[in-house]
Parts: sequence; C-alpha cells; structure tokens
Amino acid sequence: MPDTFEQEVLAVYDWVDAQVAAASPRCDISGRCCRFKDYGHKLFLTRIEADILFRKELPTEHNTPEKTAREAVNQACPYQHKGLCTARENRPTGCRIFFCDPAYDEKCCEITEAAILQLKKLHEKYHKPWEYNELSHFFDQSNREFLSNEPNERVDSKSSL
Ligand code: SF4
Repeated sequence: MPDTFEQEVLAVYDWVDAQVAAASPRCDISGRCCRFKDYGHKLFLTRIEADILFRKELPTEHNTPEKTAREAVNQACPYQHKGLCTARENRPTGCRIFFCDPAYDEKCCEITEAAILQLKKLHEKYHKPWEYNELSHFFDQSNREFLSNEPNERVDSKSSL
C-alpha cells in the first residue's frame, strides 16, 4: 500500500494522464523516444518516480548489469522491449507527457511545468529531499546498492502498481 506521499504522486500521474488525453497528441514514431540516443533526448525524473518505476520488473533479457549500466540506459530505456514499454502503469511523468507531435509542443511544456511544480510542492509538504536526475543516474544508484547490499533482485519486483 503506497504511503500518502506516494498516493499524492500517483494522483499527479492521474492528473497528467487526463491533461494528455484532453490534448490528444499524435504518436508518429512509436517507441523511438524511449531509445534516447537515437532520438537525441534525455529522460529526467524524481527519486520517487524512479522508486515507483523500479517496482516494475525489467524484461528478463534486460535485467542484467550490462543493460542497466549508466551508458546503456543513456542509449535506451531497458523497460522497452520489442518496441513497447513494459512499465506503462509505473512510468514517470516525463514518459506520460512526451509525444513527438509538433502541434503538441507548447501543451507538452505547459503540462511538464505544471507537473514538476506539483511534485515540488509535494516534496515540500512531506519534507522529502528534491532529487531530479536522468534515468541512467537512478539505474546507476540502484546497481551500486545492489552490489553493496546484495539483495535478491536487481530492482524491487515484488510488487507492481
Ligand atoms: S519507462 Fe516506458 S515509456 Fe518511459 S522511457 Fe522507458 S520504455 Fe519508454
């Protein structure tokens, strides 16, 4: 059961999904934006968003030190498998908001700014440190924790949303 901080973060996800649905942007090149190097962009997210994402088990082929290394994640998100996102329910706001439709650019920025503001306010409300970084940074941290703690699994896959 998510704590109240996380429940409010999930409510931001719902708000984002509703905004994006109302704007109904087009997806022209399905899945390419998750191959970061090919597409030429980066995915930023907060620590709590990474925690939520990491509860989803990676596809078996990608749950390896090589595929989750910083350099590999900077090339492509390891949750993408056969062109599809395998973590749709757990994906962070950046993934929910971004679409390659040029007609949606302005709205995309607007929703992003509003979502980040909401997340920042929640961090203040719950006295959580604001940690906002690239996806590869959080994978790197998770891998270091795995090596130092030797948990049974590389990412926490015991529960998924
Ligand atoms: S979490 Fe899913 S939508 Fe987000 S970058 Fe990874 S594969 Fe793409």
